[in-house]
Amino acid sequence: MPVALRMSTLYVPTLKEEPAEAEIASHRLMLRAGMMRKAAAGIYTFLPLGWRSVRKVEQIVREEMDAIGSQEMQMPIVQPAELWQQSGRWDVYGPELARLKDRQGREFCLGPTHEEIITATVRSELRSYRDLPVSLYQIHTKFRDEMRPRFGLLRGREFIMKDAYSFHASQDSLHEHYDAMAGAYGRICDRLGLEWRPVAADSGQIGGSVTTEFMALAASGEAALVYCDCGWAANVEVAESVVAGRPAPGEPAPLERVATPDARTIAEVAAHFRVDESHTVKTMAGRTAEGRLVLMCVPGDRELNPVKADRATGGVTLLEDDDFAALGLPRGSLGPVDPPAGTLVIADRSLRDLASWIVGANTDGFHLTGASPGRDFDVAEWADLVVAEPGDGCPTCGEALQAARGIEVSQVFQLGTKYSVSMGASFADESGQEHPFIMGCYGVGVTRSLAAVIEQHNDENGIAWPMSVAPLEVAVIPLGGGDEDVTQTAERIWEGLAAARIETVLDDRDERPGVKFADADLIGWPLQVVVGKRGLADGVVEIKDRATGERTTVALSEAVAHVTALVEDGRARFA
Ligand code: ATP
Ligand code: MG
Repeated sequence: MPVALRMSTLYVPTLKEEPAEAEIASHRLMLRAGMMRKAAAGIYTFLPLGWRSVRKVEQIVREEMDAIGSQEMQMPIVQPAELWQQSGRWDVYGPELARLKDRQGREFCLGPTHEEIITATVRSELRSYRDLPVSLYQIHTKFRDEMRPRFGLLRGREFIMKDAYSFHASQDSLHEHYDAMAGAYGRICDRLGLEWRPVAADSGQIGGSVTTEFMALAASGEAALVYCDCGWAANVEVAESVVAGRPAPGEPAPLERVATPDARTIAEVAAHFRVDESHTVKTMAGRTAEGRLVLMCVPGDRELNPVKADRATGGVTLLEDDDFAALGLPRGSLGPVDPPAGTLVIADRSLRDLASWIVGANTDGFHLTGASPGRDFDVAEWADLVVAEPGDGCPTCGEALQAARGIEVSQVFQLGTKYSVSMGASFADESGQEHPFIMGCYGVGVTRSLAAVIEQHNDENGIAWPMSVAPLEVAVIPLGGGDEDVTQTAERIWEGLAAARIETVLDDRDERPGVKFADADLIGWPLQVVVGKRGLADGVVEIKDRATGERTTVALSEAVAHVTALVEDGRARFA
């Protein structure tokens, strides 16, 4: 179907004013360009132009899924609680899971993700190794009652996701499909015109262990990344840290107890002893699930990474003020020497070479200097415990890491048997023996990806779409104030482009040139064909490339062919 639309009839309510609630470009511009409207916090209505772009993202995702043999299907948004009880997530998911009851009082939830329902769907029918592997996907609405919905489509409560799930008889088969998915996800990012990186990540609520996030680089991104020019990159939530520039090993000084009445923070302790913060040791206290007290020591200038602390201890909750009071421990003077009986002391591996530690004395107002591991206290485990920072060594090549911010547009997970075991989903092997399915799951944020595209492709005048996701490819803009010749020429070009299967809008509104140009740049039509009286007198039209701002003059007789070729180039770049 050729797409030829008229601005005069298109529902595209652009805004001149900056919407006050929008903090970042994609949110602001999607509202201003008349692409969407807010219905409630984190819940949006897509207007025709916004929906056209959403569907283009969906189509790119669909093509890449189909190309790797994943099959499209559709699951319900409303899901029965029983399935979530079977997987155990009904109780652990928390308030992000929107729960509701039907008229009979039966419990349901709005799907934030679909592992439960897909596992329940296949478990009674997918029975034999002969039928594996299977990969299924849907493109559908998700609901997560996010604590802080913000940034428009970047963190919504209702949003569109492509979610895929795969079932395998062997780890090898899972790895193969996981790699194919990761390849497809990279191609999706490329086709969306995103500058992106794959990063090692935490598997969070979904479970499983091996996972990669695809990050669109953007200053507005909520994720902090560290990366190296060698190609290594990770989310700082999990990034391995090779702490650089530490004090050289030496002989331990004698242990001394020093009154430090004014030193409770690391900055104050460092000032008191006239040393750099990196020469002090910060001790954090927590409890394991079994109730054991854990002291976690990190260099004074570094932050404890909670994901790593959990990994090293099997799960730890930091102590609150009340806990410190009950234990008689001073929050501002904690240290590993003579802790309460039964305390587990773990320390960041970068401290192993530090012979003399400056630590809290576990007595309010006192610190110890010359505290030496092995002599004055025992460290049960030297682990990687700190948040990685730029300047740390790259874990693969040792070069200094750099920092970036990113928008997580998609993620692939090797789930293993988490859901198949808890939900009793198994297949029979060659000898008839039952095994739980080995599973993978894979998600692309469709609406978040669209916002990420705008974050990377905009300027002070509006959106500068890559050809692949623009709501339409070309705008024909007559500037004749109703001049018959201009109007007819513009219509002819518009029809010619439509006949060549170029998606074209004709700005046939009775508006001043300034208004038409401002709207065209705001909405961001990739190519604008300007038809004016003076140009026509010379037999030419002007073509503007929105992204580069470049203007070229083309003979009227060549206009359709020329623009068609430019669009086809643009399409090919993202194919
Ligand atoms: P985040 O860490 O940003 O909350 P997530 O890791 O919980 O996201 P996944 O469960 O991995 O998200 O979901 C797959 C994809 O769905 C994400 O990569 C992201 O693109 C998209 N997505 C997740 N939450 C939201 C949201 N609140 N709004 C828009 N898109 C989202
Ligand atoms: Mg994720």
